[in-house]
Amino acid sequence: MHSIDPGNSFATWREAARRMLAAGVPPQEILWEKADGLLAGIAEEPAIYHVSSSKAPAVPKAFLDLAVNAACHADPGRWALLYRILWRITHGGEKRLAEISTDPDIARARLMEKNVRREIHKMHAFVRFRKTGEREDGREIFVAWFEPEHHIVEAATPFFRKRFANMDWSIFTPKGCAHWDGETLAYTPGVERDPCDDPDALEAAWRTYYRSIFNPARLKTKAMQTEMPRRYWKNLPEAEIIEELIRDSRPRTGDMIATTPRPLRPEPRNDYLAHLRQLSEIPACSLPPPGTPPEEIARLLKSCRLCPLWQRATQAVPGRGPADARIMIVGEQPGDREDLEGTPFVGPAGQLLDQALAAAGIERDQAYLTNAVKHFKWTARGKVRLHAKPDAAEIDACKPWLLAELSSVAPEVLILLGNSAGRSLLGEGYPVTRHRGIIDAPHLAPRVILSYHPSYLLRLREPADRESTFEQFVHDLRLAVVHGD
Ligand code: SF4
Repeated sequence: MHSIDPGNSFATWREAARRMLAAGVPPQEILWEKADGLLAGIAEEPAIYHVSSSKAPAVPKAFLDLAVNAACHADPGRWALLYRILWRITHGGEKRLAEISTDPDIARARLMEKNVRREIHKMHAFVRFRKTGEREDGREIFVAWFEPEHHIVEAATPFFRKRFANMDWSIFTPKGCAHWDGETLAYTPGVERDPCDDPDALEAAWRTYYRSIFNPARLKTKAMQTEMPRRYWKNLPEAEIIEELIRDSRPRTGDMIATTPRPLRPEPRNDYLAHLRQLSEIPACSLPPPGTPPEEIARLLKSCRLCPLWQRATQAVPGRGPADARIMIVGEQPGDREDLEGTPFVGPAGQLLDQALAAAGIERDQAYLTNAVKHFKWTARGKVRLHAKPDAAEIDACKPWLLAELSSVAPEVLILLGNSAGRSLLGEGYPVTRHRGIIDAPHLAPRVILSYHPSYLLRLREPADRESTFEQFVHDLRLAVVHGD
């Protein structure tokens, strides 16, 4: 029996696993953790196994895709599980094992993968940046605190680098911290509690970050003092350690290969940050906290008064469907029947949606169906309640509820039906007639599809128009099942 501790590093585990495979070590002979206590006698990886990992057998891409995400799971048994799968593929003759979802090992790994993906989406949706200052060059500095259950910081934060390229930010978590300065995305160890409200803790965290990015091979003291005159140093959290780092840098420089990361071209800033700020201005008590399950969101919705639409509606209509649905479908708002029954998509538009889903090969019961606006907006004509389109303010007011559902379900495919659903999650500038099909919005879901709302089809007078539009609608829905599996 041998003990190998990869920590939380997939790269470390992969290298060790390749060496173990090349040496023919079976899973039952490896303890994938540091041996202590009663197990302290177990040998660490012996030198004989430090054979070239290039002798390790090739591994199918399906396994690697699965392993990369499952490795971020907090379950300490993940390394043993992944090695057992790897062994069965390479030494057990089960080359296509990673594709067999009914196998207990694969099912467990996929569940881990799903939990990790779900949490990455939650992090993308619920990280809230707070501005803490500005650099000398005018770049704004933001910080955020997040508490992930799994080791997702390195997997989730490239999203923020792309999204918020033009500002400096740090995201602190107990499972690792990420820092972006416009050029480099750096990682430091986790911190126990939110340093953002504690100036001392925040400065300590920044000093750790500054140490991690300090590159003695690029040290030019004069240029540094020109860029950052000494009189400003007293205001910088890292000032205390600048002298020390400069002093220590001389001997280190010779040992170090300066690997300058290629600067990324900053992207134009979009309105996402503004949106986050807007969300943070909504009273916290009105917002379901991250990870709230759909049934709790449904309960909280009943008392929502964020816009006037609740006053004339019978009830709020929450989403309906499996909490872990692969596909989430978002319409505009409940109609007359939905308002009375409290269930989305049960009126005429819902029936047409059922037909289209069946034609596209999607089971309605397997999807999570909801609306951008949760209360029915209507005008009276005699005794009939006629649908009235929600305005932008109403859509925006209801957006936190939709984001809460999206975060909770964390679907692989998000289908937005109609302009109101598009306006809610994509912002202005996405009319369905111009942007139908797949939309690049990875912060919402791995695949996002924009298409017609079925009520639009119901309003088409010409049968030929209705038929051809229905075909386009089914075509769009099929995008949820024909790619990416
Ligand atoms: S429509 Fe949405 S935001 Fe407005 S009251 Fe209803 S649940 Fe609240």
